Amino acid sequence: MAEHESLEFGKADFVLLDSVSLEEFMANLKLRFEKGRIYTYIGEVVVSVNPYRAMNIYGRDTIEQYKGRELYERPPHLFAIADAAYKAMKRRNKDTCIVISGESGAGKTEASKYIMQYIAAITNPGQRAEVERVKNMLLKSNCVLEAFGNAKTNRNDNSSRFGKYMDINFDFKGDPIGGHINNYLLEKSRVIFQQEGERSFHSFYQMVKGGSESLLRSLHVSKDPTAYSYIKVGGQVKSSINDGADFKAVADAMKVIGFTPDEIQTVYKVLATILHLNSKVVAVIGVLLATKEENVGKALLYRTVATGRDVIDKQHTTQEASYGRDALAKAMYERMFCWIVGRINDVIEVKNYDAKVHGKNTVIGVLDIYGFEIFQNNSFEQFCINYCNEKLQQLFIQLVLRQEQEEYQREGIPWKHIDYFNNQIIVDLVELQHKGIFSVLDEACMTVGKVTDEVFLQGLNSKLAKHAHYTSRKLSPTDKSLEFDRDFRIRHYAGDVVYSVVGFIDKNKDTLFQDFKRLLYNSSNPVLKMMWPEGKLSITEVTKRPLTAATLFKNSMIALVENLACKEPYYVRCIKPNDVKSPLLFEYERCRHQVEYLGLLENVRVRRAGFANRQEYPRFLQRYKMISEFTWPNHDLPSDKEAVKRLVQGCGFEHDVAYGKTKVFVRTPRTLFCLEEQRDEMV
Ligand code: ADP
Ligand code: MG
Repeated sequence: MAEHESLEFGKADFVLLDSVSLEEFMANLKLRFEKGRIYTYIGEVVVSVNPYRAMNIYGRDTIEQYKGRELYERPPHLFAIADAAYKAMKRRNKDTCIVISGESGAGKTEASKYIMQYIAAITNPGQRAEVERVKNMLLKSNCVLEAFGNAKTNRNDNSSRFGKYMDINFDFKGDPIGGHINNYLLEKSRVIFQQEGERSFHSFYQMVKGGSESLLRSLHVSKDPTAYSYIKVGGQVKSSINDGADFKAVADAMKVIGFTPDEIQTVYKVLATILHLNSKVVAVIGVLLATKEENVGKALLYRTVATGRDVIDKQHTTQEASYGRDALAKAMYERMFCWIVGRINDVIEVKNYDAKVHGKNTVIGVLDIYGFEIFQNNSFEQFCINYCNEKLQQLFIQLVLRQEQEEYQREGIPWKHIDYFNNQIIVDLVELQHKGIFSVLDEACMTVGKVTDEVFLQGLNSKLAKHAHYTSRKLSPTDKSLEFDRDFRIRHYAGDVVYSVVGFIDKNKDTLFQDFKRLLYNSSNPVLKMMWPEGKLSITEVTKRPLTAATLFKNSMIALVENLACKEPYYVRCIKPNDVKSPLLFEYERCRHQVEYLGLLENVRVRRAGFANRQEYPRFLQRYKMISEFTWPNHDLPSDKEAVKRLVQGCGFEHDVAYGKTKVFVRTPRTLFCLEEQRDEMV
């Protein structure tokens, strides 16, 4: 008996559970985790539980086992999904995507890396140099992005603090010829503040620990990270990470990718500037930014304002000055990060590909993005992240159901409608023009005079009082979960989340004084200048309000979903078994909660309401032909389809089976079980 069919390890596909209940689902998940089986299917979805230990299942030999095989022939694995996405792309010329979701520390980024490694390993059998170059770039880009976009948090020592979507482009032979990365919502507040026990982005510590004497001297940076208040807020300047060694690896990767020495130096200068912003060394900052010392001082302490025809310098209050400085630190880092992504894209973008000559260039997209967040305190960031998850859930509903529907149509099988909770109403609650929460927020931000978070909350209360998924302290005064006057609650598809409005206005406006933009644009360092094109405008020319953070995020999410919607999707749902990074502990409650908010049970139900299993006729015969005298060892019927019909009739399962053009559809897992049992008796 093949290992993945053995009950000792639980059911390899949740669709095969005897009944769909949370208890059964959890029991199977737990059993498999304890037996070291970290992957389980729901149809074509992979559910993955972070093993928190090195697993010997990603090597060359494993790759060979999955290459070109069908999903059900091998134990559940990421490689099988990667292979399925790749095969669909190659055989049917379809763009595909792999959506990886789950909370922080659940294993998304590791999964995305294994998937990329798999794809790299199975492509380019001809060893073409250009393809090898592209593959190397794609893999190297991870190392750079992690240095600048990841940080140690209390949940994950190497936590991605941004969302990432990466397209890999393939030529007609199925070999990678380029790619493109989109990044989403970098958590830039981390540049100036970290929770107890956390760190800022790896890049700072890497430079301080790994930079050569001469580099650090030129940057006026000391080797001691505790010298810099921005990066020691969380009190965790040390960690299990080897920052010094990583610094060199990242510098090498940047070189390989094609960053010029000037560009790499500018990156270090930006990091150093941010470190210095907290001390009073304006002269050093002037040198690093290649601008005059007095300009730096002036931008930090004054603000140029246009009053009618006059332009005056208005001195900041202490509060304004420190707000401005923090905003500058965050903005410089974020801008640099986006610029790095842009430079990587320049290098990996598809070049010299003529679709007329070579045929369509197809794509596999890999999405590694933040999962649902429910913290003790939820603010603007969690609101954006949870909105992102609503969008992805909506996409999941549309795509998975659509995918099923399309398959039934293709195979000529009547489709029956399945009931499920459609979360479009929550998506609308957030993003609808004029009525949605983002619109109310933007309106509040545009109010003249002093805008407070309370004004925003009043706006919400007046516009959304009747919405079934919105409430607040004012609307539900006796509700215990709404503890403070500044709280509002959204009933997300994944559960209720209470948000505090504190900081929404500020974070949404995301103000960076114009003076800073001009300062950086006027630098004589061309790389730095390039990061700040809008600094070109003089004070009197600046009229247009920059788009708010919410609007930018909303637009990027809408674009992302549109992009994914035209691809054939594959899903990886990651689960974090415990909060202590233990390979042994399956914290039941913790996991149950994730299973619930990932909507996994619903997923199983949708899958079972249709046909639990479908297999091409020849494959089905190959597997079960020993059950029937009509098909063993060979059949003499006119087609495999006829033979399968005969076999199924013989077993008495006709009522549970539908015959498509190329595939037999089995409705309930029980039937599949019986077939498997009978097969086991024969072999
Ligand atoms: P996420 O991106 O979801 O926040 P990561 O992918 O960074 O989480 O995983 C967090 C940590 O968990 C990793 O640094 C690694 O130690 C461990 N981990 C995750 N997936 C695996 C795996 N497949 N095998 C071994 N360890 C893993
Ligand atoms: Mg990650």
